[in-house]
Amino acid sequence: MPENQGADPTPVPVTHPLHTVQVAVNTPSHSGVDDLLDYTSPQPLAPGTLVRVPLGRREVLGVVWDAPASAQSASPHQLRAVAGVLEGLAPLDAPWRRLVAFAARYYQRSLGEVALAALPPQLRDLQPEQLARRLRRPRTQGDTFNATPLIALSAEQESARAEIDTQKGPFLLFGSTGSGKTEVYLRCVQDLLARSPTAQALVMVPEINLTPQLEERFVARFGAGSVVSLHSGMTNPQRLKSWLAAHSGQARIVLGTRMAVFASLPGLGLIVVDEEHDPSYKQQEGARYSARDLAVWRGREQGAKVLLGSATPSLESWHASRPPSADDPEGGRYQRLAMPSRIGAAQLPRVRRVDMNHQPRRTVFSAPLLAAMTERIARGEQCMVLLNRRGYAPVLHCQDCGWKSDCPHCSAHQVFHKLDRSLRCHHCGFAVRVPRACPGCGSPDIVALGRGTEQLEEQLATLLDGVQRPDGSPVRVARIDADSTRAKGALQSQLAQVHAGEVDVLVGTQMIAKGHDFRRITLVAAVQPDGALFSSDFRAPERLLALLMQAAGRAGRDAAYMAAQGTQCEMWVQSFHPGHAVFEALRTHDYPAFAAQQLKEREEAAMPPFAFQALVRADARTQEVAQGFLRAASSAAQAHGLPGLDQVTLYPPVPLTIQRVAQVERAQMLVESSNRTALQRFLAAWQPVLQATRNQPEHKGLVRWLVDVDPLAI
Ligand code: ADP
Ligand code: ZN
Ligand code: ZN
Repeated sequence: MPENQGADPTPVPVTHPLHTVQVAVNTPSHSGVDDLLDYTSPQPLAPGTLVRVPLGRREVLGVVWDAPASAQSASPHQLRAVAGVLEGLAPLDAPWRRLVAFAARYYQRSLGEVALAALPPQLRDLQPEQLARRLRRPRTQGDTFNATPLIALSAEQESARAEIDTQKGPFLLFGSTGSGKTEVYLRCVQDLLARSPTAQALVMVPEINLTPQLEERFVARFGAGSVVSLHSGMTNPQRLKSWLAAHSGQARIVLGTRMAVFASLPGLGLIVVDEEHDPSYKQQEGARYSARDLAVWRGREQGAKVLLGSATPSLESWHASRPPSADDPEGGRYQRLAMPSRIGAAQLPRVRRVDMNHQPRRTVFSAPLLAAMTERIARGEQCMVLLNRRGYAPVLHCQDCGWKSDCPHCSAHQVFHKLDRSLRCHHCGFAVRVPRACPGCGSPDIVALGRGTEQLEEQLATLLDGVQRPDGSPVRVARIDADSTRAKGALQSQLAQVHAGEVDVLVGTQMIAKGHDFRRITLVAAVQPDGALFSSDFRAPERLLALLMQAAGRAGRDAAYMAAQGTQCEMWVQSFHPGHAVFEALRTHDYPAFAAQQLKEREEAAMPPFAFQALVRADARTQEVAQGFLRAASSAAQAHGLPGLDQVTLYPPVPLTIQRVAQVERAQMLVESSNRTALQRFLAAWQPVLQATRNQPEHKGLVRWLVDVDPLAI
């Protein structure tokens, strides 16, 4: 691999024997899997050693990699030398390297890219001396477990814990919202740490905003010295610190988002993936990995138990955890553990459906919903209103000439944000001030069509004007979404206000529906969930039900409070299709029945989890170029008779739903097989063909192409 033969090879003293080492570095080229570079070193370097090496004119971080069995290196004298070793850091262990190599291979990216992306960014910038200084810093005391008295587990929790303790897994903990899944995680971690003084646990959550609450619970149980977080909201120095603590074994518990699946954890004994169904476990750029799937792979490889948890499991995990049956004596490869009951005999919310066909036109809050909310507020209870669309209105419209607030750069509307009087594109970020008159014809009659969370917040404040809390003070409405929480710490302080009871009605997007352990919310309403019913994405019903069940799960979580209030909690759904299967499943809280029906459809249509998919996406200046590239790559695959092709279906290219973003036209092509190995074999063989196709002059206009294995949205 001659790429590193620079013009200026480091002079090599001839008297010492030189060792050749293979180093994984992040080369910018889309060079496929085989991207280890050869360097020399005066001493042998163990695989996993972190080094700095020259690359072109720069010096970059690299990881010494296991020499391929058939390595045939150039003569050491033609190679450049390793510039320095990051002293004091134990080499990254073999399981970590296997994980990285697998992820690179499976998701069709280069090894160096995945390896380097898995390391904290600051490690790249630190000189060896700076690192040595950091490593010398006194460590915070670990291992002092707090003696908080343990709560007694419910019978369901106890039996789940016993299974996890004695069985091999992987486990799917199918527990209702409020069934105490987190307590099971805590107890399993505790069991593990008690068993071995060096064991480590990795606990993943889908969203950064869920980490602080979880961190609090873990720190209260295990002490601050044992727990570190790892997520993208941290500063680089914080991330490095957490990473080092995990790598050295000092941190016994790592809490994090999807990126944490790549943490170096030499003592890894347990991986928990909370809300395993959540789409945020899938990375959407670079290596498009699924942290959940990698967690299962890593656990098996490293001998760590894996515990996936959800009240609404992904159909993939649901199917994988099917119990053995007469015509399927094997059953799935996961073990399903059920916790159907809420803690303290709390009830799941009663579902109330409002048929919007019988409401006056343009009703946003139906009269019965409003009355129910008013009653709750008057009793001092909290309500939550869910609308998965931020901004004031999704589009502005001129009633005279038909002008719409289209984004000039995308095939999407610019969203009207009233608070800062802007029109903003949520795809490319392009923003302008709201025009006073129609840019098309000058008419002043421009109206907002549809509604977003900003508008709901405003309307609720008006509709509930005059409603009083038990102490006579006026009602308070608050909103939590990506706009209200842009400032650092904003989300935490807004959530704290809700927990403190300073807010009566919380309006928000899916951000408020997930995971939070609210104690005084007794009513949750989805005011406009219909949009998702008619999406072309075959996963849309599954997604919608998960979101609604999660949202419903925020109501009535505290049995004692509900008893004291003497009320039952409710989930309201306003819909023009109130009889739809998704709402029916929500009403009966019958996820298994819904999953069974969906899986039947998927099986009949040969869709995941009964088929395996990959998308190849092409971005170009024109749709013709994007699709032309995909068509050419497809023909080339056929012409080469690539392996696996007999079991793989290549579909024709199509534009993406949002076809143009930031002036770039996007197209994609679905690749499908009923055999995962065949699909993998085909993709690996196709990679260089795609690369070669891209280099042909007729595809010059191509901006980029990428492969998404196991895509979540089609
Ligand atoms: P889930 O994650 O399943 O939605 P949580 O783990 O957040 O549920 O538990 C819901 C609430 O019940 C939390 O406030 C938690 O502290 C409490 N809880 C959990 N297990 C028990 C238990 N065995 N006894 C009493 N309270 C519990
Ligand atoms: Zn106009
Ligand atoms: Zn745009």
